[in-house]
Amino acid sequence: MSTTEPARGGIQAFCGTEDIRSWMHRPWMENGCVYATNGHACVEVWANAATASLLGAVSKPKRSPDMAKLFSCWPTGMTVEPGTGTTVEPGFIALPSLPEFQACQVCYGDGYLDDDPLQTCGSCCGYGEKFELSDVYGLKFQVHYLRLIASLPDVKVSMLDDRLLFRFGYDACVMSYFGRGILMCCKP
Ligand SMILES: [Zn+2]
Repeated sequence: MSTTEPARGGIQAFCGTEDIRSWMHRPWMENGCVYATNGHACVEVWANAATASLLGAVSKPKRSPDMAKLFSCWPTGMTVEPGTGTTVEPGFIALPSLPEFQACQVCYGDGYLDDDPLQTCGSCCGYGEKFELSDVYGLKFQVHYLRLIASLPDVKVSMLDDRLLFRFGYDACVMSYFGRGILMCCKP
């Protein structure tokens, strides 16, 4: 596979499927939104029950963090609302182009082994790409996560201290979702 698309995609791709914290393995529904996190990146999309079901969301896990508190860092005056798809808040700019996709040498970019999608490649954790850091406006981020963000529709980003804020829009071909997320930088 020689593509810039991640082997994993969509909201579910932000789940920490390899994480020991099993509540991270599935997206969940909370206060009219679906959330997914792997502990480094978290994403929030507005969702009704039907969309939540399509996204495979479960009910709020007991151990999930306080998402309202997590997103309280979002700059005020830049609230994102459902249905306004193409509106871009001030301060949000394009995600810079990412380095060329470097296929994992173990799974050759598939993200899984032996032609079995259930056998996640342990070397790249199913992303199909080598672990690399990539620079975004002066901060280093894991390229796996940046590629997931880049695969979302109408993505715009903003920097806040050691975090990358991202918001994305409406895509009727996918699932009509509209949301935002936060990615933590990799500290040296
Ligand atoms: Zn691999």
